[in-house]
Amino acid sequence: MPTITFLGGTDTVTGSKFLVEGSGASVLVDCGMFQGARAVKDLNWGDPFGDRDLPDEVLLTHAHIDHTGYLPRLVGTYGYSGPVRCTSATADLLGVMLPDSAKLQEETAAYANKTKYSRHDPALPLYTGEDAQAALQLLRPVDYHEWIDVPCGRARFSFAGHILGSAHIAVESEGRRMVFSGDVGRWDVPVLKDPEPPVSADLLVLESTYGGRLHSEAGVDLSDVLAEAVNRVAGRGGVMVIPAFSVGRTQEILYRLRELEDAARIAILPVFLDSPMAIDATEVYRRHHEEHDLEVRALVDAGTSPLRPARLEYSHTVEDSKRLNGLREPAIIVSASGMATGGRVPHHLKRRLPYPEHMVCFVGYQAEGTLGRMLVDGADRVRIHGEEIDVRAEVIRLEAFSAHADEAELLRWVGEALPERIALVHGEQEAREALASALGDAYDCEILLPGRGDVLDV
Ligand code: ZN
Repeated sequence: MPTITFLGGTDTVTGSKFLVEGSGASVLVDCGMFQGARAVKDLNWGDPFGDRDLPDEVLLTHAHIDHTGYLPRLVGTYGYSGPVRCTSATADLLGVMLPDSAKLQEETAAYANKTKYSRHDPALPLYTGEDAQAALQLLRPVDYHEWIDVPCGRARFSFAGHILGSAHIAVESEGRRMVFSGDVGRWDVPVLKDPEPPVSADLLVLESTYGGRLHSEAGVDLSDVLAEAVNRVAGRGGVMVIPAFSVGRTQEILYRLRELEDAARIAILPVFLDSPMAIDATEVYRRHHEEHDLEVRALVDAGTSPLRPARLEYSHTVEDSKRLNGLREPAIIVSASGMATGGRVPHHLKRRLPYPEHMVCFVGYQAEGTLGRMLVDGADRVRIHGEEIDVRAEVIRLEAFSAHADEAELLRWVGEALPERIALVHGEQEAREALASALGDAYDCEILLPGRGDVLDV
């Protein structure tokens, strides 16, 4: 009987790593980095495999760092050299994201050494740019919907509708079948195809990020709210700053802005995409036609660029970015990071926050302790790069933007092919328990809440 060992991503939303052992071989599904609080991040420094052998192969559900960001460590520190299978779009996104992650690791270590702000002396990066490049060499793109041979049996990738390239993966071994949900996306959102139903399985390993929560959008059309906000800021001659995650959210914003322009619901303003990673990710989104939903395909066929507002400009260099400080006409700046914790966004906030004609529009979850959270919570003064900045600009949050299925959507997805057993992972403990009870009310199947290190017979 095959087993799954839960190496990470159980009662946290980061560090996803599930080791499948069967037929005398092993496959690791996802290779995520732990992120967030220090105690969680410290887990990245432990050896996830202990006295076990390294896996024979790695399968990746999607490109987000909490599902892939440990790969360069696995390669650089532990010497993993087997194939890493993922969809072709995921491989392209990783070409952008893993080097960026390595750069961040190296910069953090260098900063810690300069300021002696580390318990380790000298502080080391978890991995380097070279390790990231070595990991990229191992990527082997697979097609959706084809059963492929893997050392423990076979595997098949299906659309998850979460970000470009995202998949849920069915793995068969010794006559048993398990499905790994990865992150489940949403129905009827622009750009990507809807999530496909899971195939029937003996065991479903299901994410629970939004257990116990619903996206509060009943009756709210996001494009309506966005249009109102753009018209308001343009009407008073201000600049709108949209902090957005580079992969997924940025492309949805560009799509909606272009759509509102085409419908003449907003003025055609200069739109600046001011994040090198978001620019690269947008180009990857454009190239992968196989992932686009019908609306995007129809637009492309009709000669429209769905992700290109009429006056879109890319700000490639720091000089391009600094030039935006001089903008005195209405414009929209889409920049990273999404929680205003780094990247170029803090510079724009410093420049725009003190003036009431400008607007900052958050379009994603703002974690506790971030600059984004302070602003949406209504701070009237914030500290940016050591300077006290008064907040007089309008700050809004469009909460319903999300790449994650909420509880009702997760129930819908599970119901399309009810498995015998469900192991809930990738959620804070409270969210997992809430989803467990909702699933228990809705369906007749066994529900498990594995802990890190647990081994489960499939
Ligand atoms: Zn994700």
